[in-house]
Amino acid sequence: MNEHDMERMSELLIDSGFSCVSDTQQADVVIVNTCCVRAKAEQKFYSRMGRLRSMKKKNGAILGVTGCIAQLEKEHLFERLPFIDFALGTSNIHKIAEAVEQATKRAPYFDFSENGCNASFFVKPNNIKGSVRAYVTIIKGCNNFCSYCVVPYVRGREVSRESAGILKEIRELAATGIKEVTLLGQNVNSYNKNRDDISFPELLRGINNIDGIERIRFVTSHPKDLSSELIGCFGTLDKLCESIHLPFQSGSDKILKLMNRSYTRNDYLEKVALLKKRRSDMALTADCIVGFPGESEKDFLDTINLIEEIRFDGTFSFVYSPRKFTQASALPDAVPGELGLERLRHFQNIQKSITLAKNREMEGKRVEILVEDTSKNSEEELTGRTRTNKIVNFKGNRDMINKLVEVDIIKGYANSLWGENPKAKGGTSC
Ligand code: SAM
Ligand code: SF4
Repeated sequence: MNEHDMERMSELLIDSGFSCVSDTQQADVVIVNTCCVRAKAEQKFYSRMGRLRSMKKKNGAILGVTGCIAQLEKEHLFERLPFIDFALGTSNIHKIAEAVEQATKRAPYFDFSENGCNASFFVKPNNIKGSVRAYVTIIKGCNNFCSYCVVPYVRGREVSRESAGILKEIRELAATGIKEVTLLGQNVNSYNKNRDDISFPELLRGINNIDGIERIRFVTSHPKDLSSELIGCFGTLDKLCESIHLPFQSGSDKILKLMNRSYTRNDYLEKVALLKKRRSDMALTADCIVGFPGESEKDFLDTINLIEEIRFDGTFSFVYSPRKFTQASALPDAVPGELGLERLRHFQNIQKSITLAKNREMEGKRVEILVEDTSKNSEEELTGRTRTNKIVNFKGNRDMINKLVEVDIIKGYANSLWGENPKAKGGTSC
């Protein structure tokens, strides 16, 4: 979501006559978009701001802060960082051009109001990188208040975007050549819950009917809002990719309850079984937190058993980080820092071997790739993703970029797959 917010701010500034530079030192305006989900992101932000302060002293650049830390700190940010020129909250990014303009006249400029949410939905989508993939925000904020999470305090309550506007935007994106859309929301599958508009599965069906769109993804889903109707969309809607990011956070019922996740380990396993029943080739990824207050060795082992049982294609795992305002920050029985890190290492080692084994299982299969670019390693190699969101590199011509091509998987590695375009075998290009 932050990446998408940055794309949209770039788009607005480009429309106002700015252009992007690759080196911060060359910039007239530097915007630092921020995250405060974990303490580490916040620490990185403040140390980065220290460096930017020195830069500003030398070249007088305008310095602005956007996103979650701005929303969290509001006006206090100017006390801590008196050298910044403007700050915008999470619902105000559509005001970026105004903020930059005002900052050249008078400082400091800020807006943290929460009623800008709808306006910020309508910032035009971008295609600035000439890509065939685009993000579309369909819901903002979160009502779940998981006990560890700061998001509801910095992104506000859930607001779903009107479906007609979303479908119009995606039709326009398809007309500019976009082939893959990823629907975004902190809790994307609670889209239009209790609202008089179409449901999330209906929205997916509407997008599936748009000519030119070849792939649909959505992120992030909450297990409690994964309805049987939504599960039924997999395998029925041909453009809906057989891949889902479904954070479980812990494999222990005791910890799930303390986290206020509103499902049990068994509920989660049942949903996964239903997904696999719909599509046996369904790729599953998830988020998990280890070292949550009160997590015993047994609770941690329940988490390990869960990842071994489900065999996720990949996971994002974190050590619990206490956050301002959250209920969990007042919980007793903190897990000592070193033990938390040890659990994280153990978790990640196991996940690494599962991911590698799953990538190796792909060897010998023919898959459809949406080619994105040349690979980082070589101009002669291309890179793209399978419908299951796995990265594939293969030898091919640049004219395959932005196209759907078939690739035979030759080798599975830890983080990617190596393939061969069947039409290119024997030296003939596609
Ligand atoms: N809305 C998504 C969901 O419900 O899973 C996730 C949003 S959150 C920005 C991304 C991930 O950060 C979470 O899934 C969780 O694993 C992790 N996270 C959030 N708060 C955390 C905290 N206080 N400490 C460690 N990890 C945290
Ligand atoms: Fe945070 Fe939970 Fe909302 Fe996800 S569902 S954003 S983890 S409060």
